[in-house]
Amino acid sequence: MYSQHRFIDGRPLEMPPGKIVCVGRNYAAHAKELNNPVPEQPLLFIKPASALAALEAPIALPQGKGECHHELEVALLIGSTLSQAKPEDCLAAIAGYGLALDLTLRELQSELKAKGHPWERAKAFDGACPLSAFVPSASVPNWRELRFELHRNGERQQSGHCSDMLFPIDVLLADISQSFTLQPGDIVLTGTPAGVGPLQNGDTLTCQLDKLLSVTTEVQTP
Ligand code: ZN
Repeated sequence: MYSQHRFIDGRPLEMPPGKIVCVGRNYAAHAKELNNPVPEQPLLFIKPASALAALEAPIALPQGKGECHHELEVALLIGSTLSQAKPEDCLAAIAGYGLALDLTLRELQSELKAKGHPWERAKAFDGACPLSAFVPSASVPNWRELRFELHRNGERQQSGHCSDMLFPIDVLLADISQSFTLQPGDIVLTGTPAGVGPLQNGDTLTCQLDKLLSVTTEVQTP
């Protein structure tokens, strides 16, 4: 059970883990690899707090539901309330930067998309959001320079650069806050770069956020 956000030095954050607002197709190369058009407005969906798990804990894949893909994303920890915000007011509300996996049951998602149904069964299930500890914002002077990578069994599978986001963080947060008030303890996932793919039992994953954060985890389905 994921019960508390933490900074990378282990300090707990006194804010309850809240909803996770996610953006689809925020990197052009990833939209292309799944044959999706690039959106004109951020494509948003939400995972509940019950989807959270610690990134370093073993990942258990849902059984009998088809391929489960890894999507490595930069995660923002919201530290103060944002509602109807302007882009220039948004960066100050970020308490920390971390990494998350937006785990996705891809075959199920394709079925749901084809039927015009919501994606929650494919993206919001228990454990669908493994989440790291957070680097304090003060240690990230320029988020646009952040690079992040996912290595699967020693091979680089995903590599992203935050400057490639179609909707940059300030614009994204402002847009989200027009529909959903962001509260302290909420998380925003900023989209995945190209290179998503299915996880297999026994995989070892290493997730890196520049030189700030590195987490290794394993896929161990009981
Ligand atoms: Zn995603």
